Amino acid sequence: MPTYQMRALECPLCGTTSERSVAVSIDAGRSQKTRQEIMQGRFQRFECNYCGHSYVADGPLIYIDFQNKHWVGVFPRQWEMSWWQWEHEPGAAFSSSMLETSPPVVRSWAPGFTIRAVFGLAALREKLLCCDAGIDDRALEVVKLDLLRSSPHTLFSLDGRPRLVDATADELVFHLVTSLDEWPQISDEPQRVPARVRIARQRLDEMTGSAWQPALSALSQGAYVDIGRLMICDDQPRASETLATAE
Ligand SMILES: [Zn+2]
Repeated sequence: MPTYQMRALECPLCGTTSERSVAVSIDAGRSQKTRQEIMQGRFQRFECNYCGHSYVADGPLIYIDFQNKHWVGVFPRQWEMSWWQWEHEPGAAFSSSMLETSPPVVRSWAPGFTIRAVFGLAALREKLLCCDAGIDDRALEVVKLDLLRSSPHTLFSLDGRPRLVDATADELVFHLVTSLDEWPQISDEPQRVPARVRIARQRLDEMTGSAWQPALSALSQGAYVDIGRLMICDDQPRASETLATAE
């Protein structure tokens, strides 16, 4: 079961605040139902008591999968515009919980964990899909970069970022927007359906080749592994990057 906490949530449409019980940490091994809700876009979807608008509570929370060794900090989507302030937090929480204050048996589980910071539940869903399909999320982000660069009808913007929605042994399927009007389609709004773009899964292997190495390393410098890393910049010098993988 997830660990819950009461939080005051503000309706993004009318601003009415409501107290809701929301998850602050999810243990994937004990929360298969929760994982299913996340994958189906149903997790923590609330209706405003005043105007009836449907919205999601997208963190902050921590998602832990001991079996697959994933430690994901999930932050509200709006916080992505200052991702450098948040991406170190999952790593710090991991160190504190798994290394510094834990008994030896817990410390023995720590090697090999992948630590990520994501913004919004759609981004978490994509990471879980990568996990299920055995996809290296760093290579996936390079594929997206190439997709944006090479598709004539896409927007090279944050709003136009492709989102992986399915993966087979041969194909990667992305949701892709081609105009600003379609922006809500890649958010957590389920009622609108964006274009589906299929590309050969083999592209993932090509992205680990030397030609794409600079992009791969630029996208893998911290726990926030997303092409937003290259698109959203701050003017201030950042603290040293956090390790994305615990050794
Ligand atoms: Zn409302």
